Amino acid sequence: MILEAISKNFFLYLSKNKVLDRMAKRFGTKFGADKIVGGETFSQAIPLIETLNHEGLQVTVDHLGEFVNSKKEARERAQECIETIQAISHHQLNSEVSLKLTSLGLDIDEELVMENMEQILEEAEKLGITVTIDMEDSSRCERTLAIYKALKENYPNLGTVIQSYLYKSEEYVDELDPYRPYLRLVKGAYKESGKVAFQEKQKVDENLKGLIKKNLLNGHYTAIASHDDAILDYTKRLVKEHGIPNDQFEFQMLYGMRNQTQHELLKEGYTVRVYLPYGEDWYGYFMRRLAERPANIAFAVKGIFTK
Ligand SMILES: Cc1cc2nc3c(=O)[nH]c(=O)nc-3n(C[C@H](O)[C@H](O)[C@H](O)COP(=O)(O)OP(=O)(O)OC[C@H]3O[C@@H](n4cnc5c(N)ncnc54)[C@H](O)[C@@H]3O)c2cc1C
Repeated sequence: MILEAISKNFFLYLSKNKVLDRMAKRFGTKFGADKIVGGETFSQAIPLIETLNHEGLQVTVDHLGEFVNSKKEARERAQECIETIQAISHHQLNSEVSLKLTSLGLDIDEELVMENMEQILEEAEKLGITVTIDMEDSSRCERTLAIYKALKENYPNLGTVIQSYLYKSEEYVDELDPYRPYLRLVKGAYKESGKVAFQEKQKVDENLKGLIKKNLLNGHYTAIASHDDAILDYTKRLVKEHGIPNDQFEFQMLYGMRNQTQHELLKEGYTVRVYLPYGEDWYGYFMRRLAERPANIAFAVKGIFTK
């Protein structure tokens, strides 16, 4: 338990190391990261998405890289996102798009984010592609939800994420109810203080179950994004008990995690979507995943020595 906490903090610390980030960019994803990242460009990810689709898995792609430093960079990121949407449509991929508002300038100028989002969503609506706004750390949560609400009315194909570790998560699900939200429900990936978030895993897990039940019984499409058997089993029991149809929810997992379980869920008739990150900025994502589950180190280390 103590070892787990130390390694979690260690990898979260490493995830912010600029020197290692630069080195990672130089060496590329081949030293283990390619097991959980789709490539350094969207073109590299296309054959992989085709393979996943062929296996019956749906996909959501995420262009890695959270923070931008200028308006120009934020506009470039929006343009790249539009190009990804066009490529998904052109290659007839079964894929949605996930994005982070900080990459579109959330910390620079909220008007700019709205402009960027509107351009992205115009293209996405035109081509029938769903976009989900990932949830970042708690300091950005309420701004993200305000933007979600402002956009959802005009762009129905828009989803966002609620993290069950936040005390206010249930309140957020209630507030979103009138917007008929498409919600991805997760436990939460950032290091948050006891002021805003449950610190005990059991409370985070119980709260996630409550949120899943609430959003499904509210009648909204729900993505249950977890690798945890207890959460998967809970959802399966819940939908059976309440007669919730399979087309009102889906399971989501990160690319490279629990592949066998993903295929078992498919065989049981459930929709399964794989979250596939790509891009040059894979280093921070890779380290955060290692922090979450140090067992992932095994294949990363193996990757270094076998390639
Ligand atoms: C598709 C997707 C999108 C996400 N989007 C966001 C987001 O926008 N914002 C955000 O903050 N977080 C996001 N997350 C991350 C999420 O918040 C959690 O940090 C992450 O999913 C770990 O929690 P968990 O529910 O998978 O299980 P955990 O609580 O980490 O693990 C519980 C149990 O599940 C099993 N397990 C977990 N991982 C594995 C594995 N790799 N292999 C085998 N068994 C495993 C183990 O038995 C483990 O004890 C996302 C996660 C997914 C899957």
